[in-house]
Amino acid sequence: MDEKILIVEDEKDIARLLDYNLKKEGYRTVLAHEGSAAPLLAAKERPRLVILDLMLPGLDGLEVCRRLKADAKTASIPIIMLTAKGEEADKVLGLGLGADDYVTKPFSVKELLARVKAVLRRSTAAAETLEIYRAGDLELDCSRVLALVKGKPLEITAREFELLKALMVSGGKMLSREALLEKAWGLDASLEVETRTVDVHVGTLRKKLKSEGKRIITVKNYGYRFENK
Ligand code: CA
Repeated sequence: MDEKILIVEDEKDIARLLDYNLKKEGYRTVLAHEGSAAPLLAAKERPRLVILDLMLPGLDGLEVCRRLKADAKTASIPIIMLTAKGEEADKVLGLGLGADDYVTKPFSVKELLARVKAVLRRSTAAAETLEIYRAGDLELDCSRVLALVKGKPLEITAREFELLKALMVSGGKMLSREALLEKAWGLDASLEVETRTVDVHVGTLRKKLKSEGKRIITVKNYGYRFENK
């Protein structure tokens, strides 16, 4: 699993309890015992999740939450707030500030771990549907299955979309025709479809991409790569 979780909690016993149980579940942990350390630590460590106590010395949990959400580097990190009984108003405020969930103290470890799993699952799903790749004027929006040039949607086929996606996500790496067949046509297709088919589709795709078509570079006797810059 190896996902990193930042625990911001001044009460040592609770911090230790969380640390122990999260590690036991296979997560990695980073601890902050006061609020003021949390925003910098989150920006540096880029955890997958922050468990944030509300009552903290220095910066309180709400202010930490506000700062995390205001910084582009940490804004997308989900937050679970830890609140004590009687902090209902703050709880609502926390959710309004962008916290994803809250757990009321005293909590059961089992419940907290279930919340952690649920929030991580949700945020992974959200990140996947928000997948957008950009290069110059070209934008690939995976959630809407759209390719756009200068904000205008292109009329490309599902196959061309998959081909373009395979090229764009490869980060400039050379991809063989076989690799592209496998990615855009699926594994089984590579047995029946000729590699020349890739060339034909790339040709059409280049035309449809207009000024951005030059980004698909031919690698002689091998395949293609995508030029991001
Ligand atoms: Ca506290």
